[in-house]
Amino acid sequence: MTLIQRSPLLEYLAFAGLCRTRIVQSAPAAAGAGIRPDAQSALIVVDVQNGFVSGALAVPDGEQVVPVINRIAPAFANVVLTQDWHTPGHASFASTHGSKPFETTKLHYGEQVLWPDHCVQGTTDAELHADLRLPHAQLIVRKGFHEDVDSYSAFQEADRKTPTGLAGYLKERGISKVFIAGLATDFCVAWTALDARRLGFEAWVIEDACRAIDLNDSLAAAWKQMADAGVHRIRSADIELPG
Ligand SMILES: [Zn+2]
Repeated sequence: MTLIQRSPLLEYLAFAGLCRTRIVQSAPAAAGAGIRPDAQSALIVVDVQNGFVSGALAVPDGEQVVPVINRIAPAFANVVLTQDWHTPGHASFASTHGSKPFETTKLHYGEQVLWPDHCVQGTTDAELHADLRLPHAQLIVRKGFHEDVDSYSAFQEADRKTPTGLAGYLKERGISKVFIAGLATDFCVAWTALDARRLGFEAWVIEDACRAIDLNDSLAAAWKQMADAGVHRIRSADIELPG
């Protein structure tokens, strides 16, 4: 599929009212070239929780992923959600170490970015966003519940040893293709996509169904790593919707 973007010049002309004729944007995917998820496909909705939308660790424009996810979800027979689910005093919290948010520290498994306290088990901050409309979702994977280990990935915790069980679940159900949306592109979405590839799944990240934190150019680095790993980068309009 080809993504054709509006040029800055056309944007300017349209803005300045200099174009008499209407600018017709090309569709992101040519007719018939859309992606139609099948029975072996699952949509993984990563961490669309209050904490990342409007709460303690809000991702810029995070709420904008919700209508996009709601629009594409009916195309998927299989939907899985993840939920960041930390203990109070979790090792990934800056407050636990007397540090400032977004500093780093060394934990027993390596370097760890320290975050504001977020998504503590049982709190409103940890609840899934109320506007998500995913009644057919089949599984919620909670992650980050080990007090001394963070977990960005839906598949494996940050110690790179402890599985969440998601790979086994998907494989047992015959699911080999995962489409990933949610928050944040450069952390939990990217780690999930990279692990998916490592574990033998075909993986797509739906760019406009994600938003990023972008800490020290982490977004560009994440897209590069994902491209190198064979993760497909698509937009929601590339997915064929039912009906
Ligand atoms: Zn977390």
